[in-house]
Amino acid sequence: MVKQTLLLILTIFLVSCDGNLNRIGRQQLGTLVNVTFIGDAEAASRTARAVFDEIERIESLMSPHRPGSDLDRLNRDGGSGAVVVSAETYDLIKKSAAISAESGGCFDITVAALDHLWDYRSKRFYPPPRSAVALLLPVVNSKYITFYPDRKGIAYARNGMKIGLGAIAKGYAVERGIIALKEKGVRHGIVEAGGDLQVIGSKFGRPWITGLRHPRKDALLAAISLDDMDAVATSGDYERFVMHNGVRYHHIIDPRTGYPANTFASVTVISKNPVLSDAYATALFVMGLDAAREFLKRHDEIDVILADKNVNFYVSRRLKDRISLLDQVKVEWL
Ligand code: ADP
Ligand code: MG
Repeated sequence: MVKQTLLLILTIFLVSCDGNLNRIGRQQLGTLVNVTFIGDAEAASRTARAVFDEIERIESLMSPHRPGSDLDRLNRDGGSGAVVVSAETYDLIKKSAAISAESGGCFDITVAALDHLWDYRSKRFYPPPRSAVALLLPVVNSKYITFYPDRKGIAYARNGMKIGLGAIAKGYAVERGIIALKEKGVRHGIVEAGGDLQVIGSKFGRPWITGLRHPRKDALLAAISLDDMDAVATSGDYERFVMHNGVRYHHIIDPRTGYPANTFASVTVISKNPVLSDAYATALFVMGLDAAREFLKRHDEIDVILADKNVNFYVSRRLKDRISLLDQVKVEWL
């Protein structure tokens, strides 16, 4: 009896220590941001708000569509001299330029100069004429970004250049969101922004699990269990695309050709750094399988799940114990 009572008290104590599983979502960064965490239910909305506020702050600096944002001012005036931006925007652009160099130009934030040619939201989407792409390609290259480190200034060496942080800012927002969550005292949780996520701690002592979508079926492909600080990002050709005369046009552009990358159907990267996971997912997507194999030899800080257009899968050997494949698929272990 005493034993049972003790056990009961212990159970109540453990439950109240761990708290509730809370999950709160909000539309941000042009996608759905979800905050999941273990903590006091009463403080949950305040805790989540700290994350949303931080992400809102980042969006107001880095969205090219917000009047007065760093990116809005830079894209308007960068061609006529240095534009002073926030230290965070400066650092992320600098980091992006470095990733551009190390990925052989497969990742390049100046591909934004082509954005208006590839407008999938348009109901009457039509692939742009080759001449229009060719005309803009000379301004797509991060080596034409000039940096003024002392005053955090950035300028464009060629007229018509534009920068878009769509392939890296979600990772940065997730990184900052997790920091905000920790500052609120949370030790176990997930911040997720439209497919990019980072986790801390565990789900009541068990690993957090994330599902990966099959790139060609309305089904899950795999479940991956995640350790503390794991950051996952996926770049796919199946979320934003249009079919035109049997060709799939999607939103990940090969900066070397100006056309949608024609290699993978989806690329998932897992590392401990959300910014790298996000940027490398896009970089590898553009690179294609052969270059990706070489790249991975030099980057053992990342694990990957690659799916090509014929739905063959290539998965890092290190993930073997952590991944359950839910579909009958062919896998080569990398
Ligand atoms: P998602 O936004 O679906 O998570 P990505 O992280 O791959 O996918 O980012 C794609 C976005 O990044 C595009 O919408 C575009 O704004 C920009 N982009 C497209 N191609 C590239 C590229 N090769 N390098 C850098 N940015 C790119
Ligand atoms: Mg990305």
